[in-house]
Amino acid sequence: MNMKFNTGNLFRKDEQYVWHAMKKYNPDATMITKKAGGVWITDINDHRYLDGMAGLWCVNAGYGREEIADVASEQLKEMSYYPLMNSHVPAIELSEKLNEWLGGDYVIFFSNSGSEANETAFKITRQYFHQKGKPSKHKVVSRYRSYHGSTIATLAAGGQMQRAYKYEPLAQGFLHVSPPDCYRSQFHREDGTCCVEAANEIDKVMTWEMSETIGAVIMEPIITGGGVLVPHDSYMKRVKEICEKHGALLICDEVICGFGRTGKPFGFNHYDVQPDIVTMAKGLTSGYMPLAATAVKREIYETFTTTDDYDHFRHVNTFGGSPAACAVALKNLEIIEEEQLIQNSESLGEWLLQELQPLMDHPNVGDIRGKGLLAGIELVKDKTSKEPIEEERAASIVKVCKEQHILIGKTSDTVAGFNNIITMSPPLSITKDELQLII
Ligand code: PLP
Repeated sequence: MNMKFNTGNLFRKDEQYVWHAMKKYNPDATMITKKAGGVWITDINDHRYLDGMAGLWCVNAGYGREEIADVASEQLKEMSYYPLMNSHVPAIELSEKLNEWLGGDYVIFFSNSGSEANETAFKITRQYFHQKGKPSKHKVVSRYRSYHGSTIATLAAGGQMQRAYKYEPLAQGFLHVSPPDCYRSQFHREDGTCCVEAANEIDKVMTWEMSETIGAVIMEPIITGGGVLVPHDSYMKRVKEICEKHGALLICDEVICGFGRTGKPFGFNHYDVQPDIVTMAKGLTSGYMPLAATAVKREIYETFTTTDDYDHFRHVNTFGGSPAACAVALKNLEIIEEEQLIQNSESLGEWLLQELQPLMDHPNVGDIRGKGLLAGIELVKDKTSKEPIEEERAASIVKVCKEQHILIGKTSDTVAGFNNIITMSPPLSITKDELQLII
């Protein structure tokens, strides 16, 4: 490939032709990247950056893995594409491998993005309850500050309303409750029981809305993009109990938390629950190819296998589970296993939190939290009022880090005012020395 660039021309053409996502919040993100390896990204001006966000929280195995590129290339040459209404070996092998990772008995539906994986989960939930003779159970409970995707239904599920503004009306039947935000909980308990009370809000909403109308709760085990909200250990178990009480499914959105990000295979592994449906994307392929998956407990799947004409899942996508993407995912998981990247995430994550702890002495640092290689620093005007710091001040930290060639993130929840949390989510292959650079 010709690596000689006319940079002026490229920037001009980029400005003219490429519609960038979220440009308003990332005015300094105008970087044209040209190569990447490990945790490092190089732009066309040959500036090298340590990517403390793993792209968009997704490059878990790190950049530039030739062995992943090789399996994609081999698979594309061997059998590039055929729709998954039939089957192929990489999809079968990957589904079996995902079952191993999930530690349950799941059937896997493939798609292309986290949004689609969640959208698929909602459709499965609705149809499942129809087939169980309970068609009124169509509503889904979610938490404010969560993010579940960019489509009309996943925006409705998400709890960051500025993302939905101007796209309404959204899909119907999505309800919101408070997130388990131990730092800001309105329940003000030091021992973590505030989280149980946040869970109990779900119980209340399900009762008031009538259990007969509630199909599922969707949640990330740890809210990631909404500000790295790590719940108390008891929270998720209590949510599962509430789901069981009201006959609702628990959908776990593992799009970011999955594949070692939090120091366990999946986020739910921290909390001793087994979800009914698990949605995955991002780290499933470490971003080497688009692929997403919706894992569904077998007993749910079985209601789709009767001889009734209308009981099958009338849902198809062209590219979901493409052979090369499945082969890439398998190789990616193999690398994560062989190089013990989950263990690396767990141990370096603990060390990262310890090393960040001295920042708590700073008057504008309200809270530091995380699990595995996922961390958030909440910035406040003062520690007593906990009023979020101005967005420009938080943004300036990201900017200064970029000037030092370190890429980190920041929340952008403008409506609720939570654009004050600095986020970090580096590749799980990061070394201690590299992590020290971020610290
Ligand atoms: N769920 C969560 C928790 C996410 O963070 C995201 C994306 O950031 C999605 C779903 C949507 O994934 P995608 O952007 O691949 O559609």
